[in-house]
Amino acid sequence: MTDGRSVHVIGAGIVGVACALRLQLNGYKVTLFDPNDPGSGCSYGNAGIFQIGACVPVATPGVIRQVPKMLMDRDQPLSIRWQYLPSLAPYLMRFLAAATPSNVDRISRILASILDCAIDSFTPLIDAANAQGMLNKTGELYVYETDQSFESAKPAHELRQSRGVNIEYLEAHQIRQLEPALAPIFKHAAYLTDCISLSDPYDLTKALLAVFFQNGGIHLREKVMGFECEGQKVRQIITNSGKHDCNRILLAAGAWAKPLAKQLGAKIPLDTERGYHVRINDADVDLRIPVISGDYRFGVSNLSSGFRVAGTAELASPNAPPNYDRADRLVGLAKRMFPNLNADGYKRWMGCRPSTPDSLPVICKSTECENAFFAFGHGHLGLTMAGITSEFILDLMEGNAPRIDISGLHYRRF
Ligand SMILES: Cc1cc2nc3c(=O)[nH]c(=O)nc-3n(C[C@H](O)[C@H](O)[C@H](O)COP(=O)(O)OP(=O)(O)OC[C@H]3O[C@@H](n4cnc5c(N)ncnc54)[C@H](O)[C@@H]3O)c2cc1C
Repeated sequence: MTDGRSVHVIGAGIVGVACALRLQLNGYKVTLFDPNDPGSGCSYGNAGIFQIGACVPVATPGVIRQVPKMLMDRDQPLSIRWQYLPSLAPYLMRFLAAATPSNVDRISRILASILDCAIDSFTPLIDAANAQGMLNKTGELYVYETDQSFESAKPAHELRQSRGVNIEYLEAHQIRQLEPALAPIFKHAAYLTDCISLSDPYDLTKALLAVFFQNGGIHLREKVMGFECEGQKVRQIITNSGKHDCNRILLAAGAWAKPLAKQLGAKIPLDTERGYHVRINDADVDLRIPVISGDYRFGVSNLSSGFRVAGTAELASPNAPPNYDRADRLVGLAKRMFPNLNADGYKRWMGCRPSTPDSLPVICKSTECENAFFAFGHGHLGLTMAGITSEFILDLMEGNAPRIDISGLHYRRF
């Protein structure tokens, strides 16, 4: 049997790696399981923004009204693989239920309470990795081409403001002053001044991992297939190459966590919003602030690895082949946004957002297995929430009360 303060972490995305490092820094012996390179899943290709103002859930009355339009227009972010619809139906029903005004209000309060401590809680990990230089307080700029698109986004911005998010509203000439590279097609903008951008999300995961390895952390390149349980305890992890005795496990396998959670007795409506990005090496665009198109809902960031245009939400199996038309469309939209953009030789990428219908992650101790812990389902906010997730997981393992009430993050809410 393994010793009492050891943890096997399943999944080495930003969430698993942040948890692994936090636990290790607090005296745990940690082994990471991932058949792939750590950080090469969804965490590799995100937009690199600590979206601390993102306290509005994906499901809102406004979004539900726009779904038909979004599905008809291939430049809009939402698409569904229709053959996947039957298995998606329960998720969609819950998504609709989450969009009522009272649920939006409740979920938004929980999101805001988590996001309020997102940076503060990440800081010890970032400091340990000496990665402070990767973060920049640039803010985040939502731009709108029409009065109508701005007006329909207003309720979400007002909700953010009511939760304490600082927003400056800008008119066309102010937008041009702030980011001259933008085309003169934007009439309105909402500038979330406190958001922080990262030089590159993959670099941060690698920096955290480097400390983890220096301190003796282990990564086993094995895929976890299941568990051997005895009573209410997981005794062994079964992988594609063997069995490992375990003391505690943390399931942090992102979009692939659902079948593993089910084996542990937890039925969770986790699904996948697949996102795409294109990255461009010599874009010829000077961009200081990450920009989000309010009309087409994609983001553009200038990262150290290149100019990145990221977005779309494709509801499909995580294992289905990518539909790179989604990525190619981002190029056309980005050229509309930045007339001088040189997109020659752009590279495409697809990643699986681990999404729950209520936009809240699952962060908890298992009810069915006393030595199993869950940290997945971070949807659009996994980078932002990785630090605070690791703090909550440490609290749960240590039996300490987390700094905020996290009962709403347990999977029993479903
Ligand atoms: C286009 C796009 C833009 C985004 N922009 C942002 C942003 O600006 N800010 C933000 O906060 N978030 C953003 N996100 C969301 C963010 O990227 C995700 O929420 C986050 O990466 C999820 O991290 P994770 O560690 O849970 O999952 P992942 O990074 O996917 O890691 C899961 C890991 O589990 C491993 N795994 C799977 N199955 C097994 C198994 N059986 N055994 C062992 N290992 C297994 C996988 O190999 C993978 O490495 C964006 C996402 C997309 C797609």
